[in-house]
Amino acid sequence: MRHISAAERAGTAGKTGSQFTGQVFNYLTMPATDGIVINTVTFNPGARTFWHSHTDGQILEVLAGRGLVQSEGGPVVSLGAGDTVWVPPGERHWHGAAPDSFMIHTAISLGPTQWDHEVTDSEYTSRPDDSPRSDPSLNETDER
Ligand code: MN
Repeated sequence: MRHISAAERAGTAGKTGSQFTGQVFNYLTMPATDGIVINTVTFNPGARTFWHSHTDGQILEVLAGRGLVQSEGGPVVSLGAGDTVWVPPGERHWHGAAPDSFMIHTAISLGPTQWDHEVTDSEYTSRPDDSPRSDPSLNETDER
């Protein structure tokens, strides 16, 4: 058992830069422990991650505000408080706030994260309605 006290985390919260576009505040809820890292991240309107993937996947739980998430080749999906997202291992994606709302999520990251390039404004502003859906697998629903 490992008890991580608030005092232990003191000073770990802070603004982040190289992996995010816009203003983001990151609170390291649980430092890397057995390959799991938990962050609670506040995105200002328009702020988002760079494209990236997680070796063993990631769970996002939206706590407040409204956000967006997209996997490579898929539509931009709107998120609201109470929504949960499972990002499978190795799937390239980004997540962040909506253009007109902040968003706070807890991110449970499994294994190392591979960071890629910035999400462009045109990628960020594309909407599900704009996205070609020629690949039906992108629209499949998970019945579990
Ligand atoms: Mn992610």
